[in-house]
Amino acid sequence: MTEQTLSAQAARTYELDRRHIFHSWSAQAALTPMVVTRAEGSYIWDGHGSRLLDFSSQLVNTNLGHQHPRVVEAIVEQARRLATVAPQHANDQRGEAARLIAERTPGELDRVFFTNGGADANEHAVRMARLVTDRPKVLTRYRSYHGGTETAINLTGDPRRWPNDNGTAGIVHFFGPYLYRSHFHAETEEQECRRALDHLTQVIEFEGPSTIAAILLEAIPGTAGILIPPPGYLAGVRDLCDRYGIVLIADEVMTGFGRTGGWFVTADEGVVPDLLTFAKGVNSGYVPLGGVAISPRIAGHFAERPYPGGLTYSGHPLACAAAVAAISAMADEGVVDNARTIGAEVIGPELSKLAARHPSVGEVRGRGVFWAVELVSDQRKRTPVAPVGGGSPIMSKVMATSKKLGMLPFVNSNRIHLVPPCTVTETEVREGLAILDTVLDHVDGLVTSTRF
Ligand code: PLP
Repeated sequence: MTEQTLSAQAARTYELDRRHIFHSWSAQAALTPMVVTRAEGSYIWDGHGSRLLDFSSQLVNTNLGHQHPRVVEAIVEQARRLATVAPQHANDQRGEAARLIAERTPGELDRVFFTNGGADANEHAVRMARLVTDRPKVLTRYRSYHGGTETAINLTGDPRRWPNDNGTAGIVHFFGPYLYRSHFHAETEEQECRRALDHLTQVIEFEGPSTIAAILLEAIPGTAGILIPPPGYLAGVRDLCDRYGIVLIADEVMTGFGRTGGWFVTADEGVVPDLLTFAKGVNSGYVPLGGVAISPRIAGHFAERPYPGGLTYSGHPLACAAAVAAISAMADEGVVDNARTIGAEVIGPELSKLAARHPSVGEVRGRGVFWAVELVSDQRKRTPVAPVGGGSPIMSKVMATSKKLGMLPFVNSNRIHLVPPCTVTETEVREGLAILDTVLDHVDGLVTSTRF
């Protein structure tokens, strides 16, 4: 992107960004951020005035699409009425948001501690588990993302942890199920499930069950590759937690609120964690909000002794008003059902056809509006076109070509994630998949030319 081709206002935005903004996760010097000037539904507009299909949902959070009028109105109305209030006071929107969330979480996770986002939700869930069990360690998966704050980045199982890990976080990582690149030499879902649970059992036994406060895992690891666990895996982890007195924390920050075609993966699988963390889709990210849904046993632990944690903006009324409006709109407008049917009837079948046609596609997997396309240079060897947590010229080309053709995907390692809003229409999906088809033609050409 060059400043000359941007509108004057977009050029100013770009210049200010480059001069004053310090960006996440990046070496700052070479960044060329896209200027976004407006957004509506499934689309955003860049600084050149070009319209792009937002198949990233930004960071997989705009589950209701952009600028949903009910959520925007709720924020405006709340700002006029009571723009802020301290967390120790009761507030109508906070209480109603918690009720709507508790109604949808599995089991009796009826109490909600609100945070500003997903990372601090995980921080607090771990703190609660450690206090309740009086044990220090937490087990989490390799191939996971749990947030950027101190404990959350150490919970994370991708290379972004390494520079933040000084070996004192009390977190032990294990391998989870991922049949396409099985760590257990499995050939079927059933084998993968059983062997992954056997492996976890051994990690627990060799770490010492009496030292383990919690197992924390994404219900479906998202950023790490949309790794759908085989049937029975989540229930198996629940059983292990029960057997060893370990708190089960389900991170549904990315999977919650419609993304997979249900409200929560754990609820759909009939698994009740002790703590469930959420953020993103709770209000489509229009105002920062996250939280921990808490079981009666854990809430009860803090009935007579204080919980040692809090935030100035816990349950901020603008964020909670947005959550009330977002959850209500999702329920009234059949948005979660739309995500489920469009995934089952359009995205899944069409991606399978693309996979069959393009030699650069290793695997497609997903459900709802939560899909990953793994790109490989050799289908038989499953050679990824970029390393875990890293980039490559091919993946840079994927992003650049997609944007040029009018579609913004979410790209990580060797994968394209297609994660449109839950409100996406069939026409928009077909438009996005046609662009993907062309992008894959380019990748096919690149991988065959690098083969020898
Ligand atoms: N947990 C999961 C599964 C996530 O995907 C993310 C963000 O992508 C987080 C936690 C962290 O959330 P936040 O960026 O709101 O702190």
